[in-house]
Formats: sequence, C-alpha cells, structure tokens
Amino acid sequence: MNLREKIRNVPDFPQQGIDFKDITTLLKDGKAFRVAIDMLSAHYQDKHIDVVVGPEARGFAVGAPVAYVLGAGFVPIRKPGKLPAEIISYEYSLEYGKDALEIHKDAIEPGSSVLIVDDLLATGGTTMATVKMVERLGGKVAGLAFLIELSFLNGRQVLAGYDINSLVQY
Ligand code: 5GP
Repeated sequence: MNLREKIRNVPDFPQQGIDFKDITTLLKDGKAFRVAIDMLSAHYQDKHIDVVVGPEARGFAVGAPVAYVLGAGFVPIRKPGKLPAEIISYEYSLEYGKDALEIHKDAIEPGSSVLIVDDLLATGGTTMATVKMVERLGGKVAGLAFLIELSFLNGRQVLAGYDINSLVQY
C-alpha cells in the first residue's frame, strides 16, 4: 500500500505558495485508512499508552482510531471556546498565523503515559503547544505520531528529545 499516493496535493491552499497535503483522499479509502491507522498504532503496541491526545480537527480523525486500536482513551485538544468544562490554554504559532489551543483541566491523570497524534507535522508549533499542555497537567509524553511529516520545516528540531514517528515524509 503506497500511502503517499493517497494524499492529495493542493497548490496554493489556504494561501498562495502553500502546497497543502489533503488527507481526506486517504481517509475516504477504507483500505488505506486501516493500513495507516494500523501502521501508526503498531509502534506503540507495547508502550502502555494510557491516553491518545489529538488536536482539532484532523487529529481527531487520526488520533481516535489509534486510541481505539491501542485500547487507550482519547482526549481532544480544541480551538478556544469549544470545550465545556474547566480548561487550560496555550498560545502558539503555526505555519500560517497564530492561534490558541485548549484542553480540559482534568483530561490527563498525573503520571499517565500520553501519545500525541496529529495528521501532519509542519513547524511543530501545534504539537509543542500540545506537549506543553499535557506536561503542565502532569502527563508523560511517550511519543508523537503523524501520518505526514513536512521534513523541510524542521518540526523535529523544535520537538527534539521526543520520540517522533511519521508514515510519509516530504
Ligand atoms: P505546525 O503547527 O506543525 O506548523 O502545523 C501542523 C498543524 O497544521 C497540524 O494540526 C495540521 O493539521 C495543520 N497543517 C498544516 N499544514 C498542513 C497541510 O499541508 N495539510 C494538512 N492536512 N494539515 C496541515
């Protein structure tokens, strides 16, 4: 299964000069979706992951099935104002612009083993914000997993010291 072939390149989205990697073409293909989730999960099968944390919105589509395969819980990270209970938040920069993310204050048990999953690693800003929030709540980040890694943006350097896995690199 060539997962790279399932990812659609969309030039100039969401703005001029950005070559957007569209994963909806992979997600809608049942076989490709299963292979991708199984491959991502396999690496963490014996790592005793308690919860998978995934940022809105594509992190839900990839993170929740990984959590299911691992028998772990799933915790959403959301844009401001979406989570109903008490939250902590973190401001971060992304490939295009600035944003903030939020997590429920009681989402992570102190000392629990956390796998962070998102569709794509670009500059690492989103993942770093997620790492900071998980660690502030006392979670131990056991790994960072992505379908896609844009290696030329050097997200790995921002996230140095963490165990990083990606299925397709550009
Ligand atoms: P970073 O914070 O690492 O710069 O950007 C990663 C975040 O932006 C991820 O949450 C990801 O969903 C989104 N993102 C940035 N560029 C792309 C892209 O080309 N394709 C997709 N699917 N998501 C992207």
